[in-house]
Amino acid sequence: MLVNKDNYYRIAEEVKSRNGILVAVSKTKPVEAIKELYELGHRDFAENYVQELLQKQPLLPKDINWHFIGHLQSNKVKFIAPFIHLIQSVDSSKLLTEINKQAAKNARNIDVLLQVHIAAEETKFGFDKEELFKFMEQLKKDSLSNISIKGLMGMASFTNDENKIRKEFSGLYSIFEDLKSSRSTTFTVLSMGMSSDYKLALEEGSTMVRVGSLLFGERN
Ligand SMILES: *Cc1c(COP(=O)(O)O)cnc(C)c1O
Repeated sequence: MLVNKDNYYRIAEEVKSRNGILVAVSKTKPVEAIKELYELGHRDFAENYVQELLQKQPLLPKDINWHFIGHLQSNKVKFIAPFIHLIQSVDSSKLLTEINKQAAKNARNIDVLLQVHIAAEETKFGFDKEELFKFMEQLKKDSLSNISIKGLMGMASFTNDENKIRKEFSGLYSIFEDLKSSRSTTFTVLSMGMSSDYKLALEEGSTMVRVGSLLFGERN
């Protein structure tokens, strides 16, 4: 057994009861594990590394919705552009421009989330709040016709301090609500919450959680 089914059914139910989407984070896990969850009816999977995604994707059913959640280099976009379902980790205008270009080349539209830096740690990628609002203003002028910005993604600090995590999530939620009110109806996704904090995230308004280790076991 490569999937913890009890956890899967429980978390899927929790997420569904809030009309959210559960994304299974399969990084470092074998295709057999993905297949096992797929057999249970699951379709949304996420990977962090382009190379790993490119190895797995051809071996798996074509109706999987692949999410990209890792730091993405512009020169790698072309490899995932033909099939990627949602790029959640857009953290620069250069990257967004490249995704638009590669989407056009593939005659498709690519959905993206903008990654927002909400954690205290220095290492996390993403826009900070001011950058994000500026960037969204700029986007009203630029025409990126092969991209849909569906919402925001963020990661809380790596800490046991629940209050801190909650504050970071609620901060992101209020940014999301601000932007949502000034944008089209397609701005609907707030991706926040992982194995350790998805419950808090749902309580703070998450519409999409990204869960790995609770479904597939700890990574090495
Ligand atoms: C690895 C990862 C996850 C899943 O982490 P777990 O703690 O295993 O649930 C979620 N989001 C991002 C961006 C990740 O890199």
